Formats: sequence, C-alpha cells, structure tokens
Amino acid sequence: MLQPVGVGHKSLADYTHLVGRPLIEEIRALSEKAKGLKILHLSATAFGGGVSEILYTLVPLMRDVGLETDWQVIVGREEFFNATKLLHNALQGSPEDLSTEEWHVYEKFNEINARQLSGGWDVIIVHDPQPLAVRRLVAEKAKHWVWRCHIDLSTPNETTLNRLVPLIEEYDGSVYHLDRYVPAALNGRRPVHLLPPAIDPLSPKNMALSPEDAAFVCDQFGVDVDRPMIAQVSRFDPWKDPLGVIDAYRLVTEEMPEVQLALVGSMATDDPEGWQFFNSTLEYAAGDPDIKILNNLNQVGSIEVNAFQSQAEVVIQKSTREGFGLTVSEALWKARPFIGGDVGGIPLQVQDGTTGFLVRSPEECAERALRILREPELGKRLGRAGKEHVRRHFLMPRLLRDWLRIFNDLG
Ligand code: UDP
Repeated sequence: MLQPVGVGHKSLADYTHLVGRPLIEEIRALSEKAKGLKILHLSATAFGGGVSEILYTLVPLMRDVGLETDWQVIVGREEFFNATKLLHNALQGSPEDLSTEEWHVYEKFNEINARQLSGGWDVIIVHDPQPLAVRRLVAEKAKHWVWRCHIDLSTPNETTLNRLVPLIEEYDGSVYHLDRYVPAALNGRRPVHLLPPAIDPLSPKNMALSPEDAAFVCDQFGVDVDRPMIAQVSRFDPWKDPLGVIDAYRLVTEEMPEVQLALVGSMATDDPEGWQFFNSTLEYAAGDPDIKILNNLNQVGSIEVNAFQSQAEVVIQKSTREGFGLTVSEALWKARPFIGGDVGGIPLQVQDGTTGFLVRSPEECAERALRILREPELGKRLGRAGKEHVRRHFLMPRLLRDWLRIFNDLG
C-alpha cells in the first residue's frame, strides 16, 4: 500500500465570508451530483512546493462536500528523484533529456508504485510527471484518470515531452494552469481543462496576522522592523532568480540605503542542487548584514512566511520561469505591493500597474520598488486591488468548484 497523507479537517462554510455566498451555493449544488465519489490524489511528495500546499486544503474541502477523498504519496529512491528532477527541468525547457538508463529508472519506479496502488477508485488524479506512467500499468484501478500538471510546459524540451504525450493521451482528461501549457501534440484529441491553482486564506500561512505580530516574528530573525524591508519567499532555485533580487536590492540601496532584503526559502535535505544554489546565494550577498537569507532549517515555517510577506513594504517574485507562483497570490492576499517577473503564471495574478508591477530585469525591478517605497499611497492602491483580484480568482473554494465540474462531466 502507498503511504496515505494525513490532513486536518476543514469546513467550506468557514469560507463564506471571504468568497461570498453565490460561490458556496454553486459548490453545494455541484456536489449534490458528485457526492460519494471515491477520489484519490496521487503525488510525489507531501512536503514542500506548491502541490502539497494545495492538497493540504483541497483534500479536506473535497471531503467536507461529500467526496470520499484520499491523498497518497508514491515511493521513490534517490535515483528516481534524480531522474524526475531532470524530467521536471527538461519539461520546463532545459536541453538535457533523460538518458536511457534514467528513463528505465523512471519506468521501474512507476511499476513499483502501480503494484502498490489500491483499486476501486472513481477518479484518480495524478499530479505532475513523476507518477504519470502508473495509469498505463493499472488502468483498471479507477473508472477515470485525470492528469494534473503543475509545471510550465510552454517551452519544453520536445524530445522529453514527446515521450510523455502518449501516456497523457490515455488519460480521460488533463489539467493545466494556462492555455499556453497544453502540449500542442495533444491536438485536441483529449479533454483539456484550465484550472489555475489557489491559496487557502484561512491557513496559518495566509490568515490575517496583525502588524505587531508580523513585526515581532521578523524582529526575531534580526530584521530591523523600523526600517523598510523587501522580501522574496521561494525555494533556492536559479529559476526563482534570488541573485537578480539581490542586484535589484543593491540598486535600491544606492538611493535608499535604509532598505533591507529578506530571502526566505525552503530547503529539502536531499536536494544537493538546492544547497549548492543556497550557498552561491549566500556568497553573492557577500556578508551584507542587511540581507537576511533564511530557510526552513532556521525554523521558518508557515507563520514565519506569513510574517515576512505581511511585514515587507514590497514583496518580489522575480522568477524567470514560474508554473503559477502561489507565493504571488499569497503576497497579494496580504494586500502587499508586489513586483513579479513577467513570466508563466505571474501575469495571470498581476495586472501590470493595477494589482502590482511586472518586470523583466533587476533594473526595472529596482525602479518599481523605489516608486512604491517613495509613494506609499501607490503601494496601498496596488495592494488593495491585488487582494480583490485574488479574492475573486485564486481562493481555494473556486478551485474546488472547478474540480467538481470536471467530476460531474466525467459522468
Ligand atoms: N514556501 C514555504 N517556505 C519557504 C519557501 C516557500 O512555505 O521557505 C512555500 C510558499 O509559501 C508557497 C510554496 O512553498 O506556498 C511554493 O509554491 P510556488 O507555486 O510559489 O512555487 P514552487 O516551489 O511550487 O515552484
């Protein structure tokens, strides 16, 4: 048996005041038909990154509206996760494809997981490419299979993607964040759904934190809470561009030397690439005491992420590739003035000049940050508009509604 993930209890009714009664009623109506369905989410990990962030809320909410929902995590060893990391990078555009041996490892672990999977499901939702090949081996274990892709497939390594397309085609449908991510090779032969992710406004990471509590937490990490702070929250990964953020910060401090920078990122203990990049980020900061570089091994958990996002005068997500970027909605929900890279799912959340700013270089990023720091009214306006945009489009009940529609359409 695969490892089930324990999730807490959540009640849809608690979200009514945040998303409005009409959406809650629409969900109730849709769940009448879907009630009792046995749904399984199958993913590669229960820790770190966007997928688990979503499932810790989506799974309990699916249960709350009457679906028998489980979440199980596949098994893998280092050789498998090395291969799937390469696979992930290739699908996001890196030129290096998997070697024959690495494809073999990928298939071998999909077989192991297929054997351990239990049967009798109405729908199995397979998240991301790691367990994608399970379906072909044990299709009979569910009435319907849906592949949920969380990554940016807009400029994939075609050789790698072509190897996966026949697997995707066997699913009853596949789900992407954006139109641009749908593989052209699918050619409309299979139902495709576009479902941008969403955040949980009631989770410790996103619940309202008073300015005093946010300041208290940041103070403990050495931030001078009487001076302005710029922050970016994300894994230490070249595509999140923390070095570009440091460049932008340096340009800002040429004009406003009192500004500080916090780079907050989670680390996986088994990700050597992450540590290497964490160390090169430290090196790039060159001992500047006003740059705080923190990770989860310094006890930075959800509340701390919340505090840094709530406390920052400007929140940045200067990615150069970004599937969606949950951190963007997280910051906007806290009504923070926001600057993001003009890539992937970020423009869906940030309308340039209205709900934040979109930038393409450290120079542009610094220029917008200085504007926000000098014009507090502008920052407030952007923050308010950003929060409303997230309220309408990127809170979890909307995503639950979209999934219910898919289940009902599967018949
Ligand atoms: N995150 C966190 N601690 C950190 C860094 C990131 O909890 O130190 C969370 C972040 O708040 C967000 C998720 O990890 O909820 C990252 O999702 P996103 O879609 O932004 O990027 P991904 O890591 O999936 O590429």
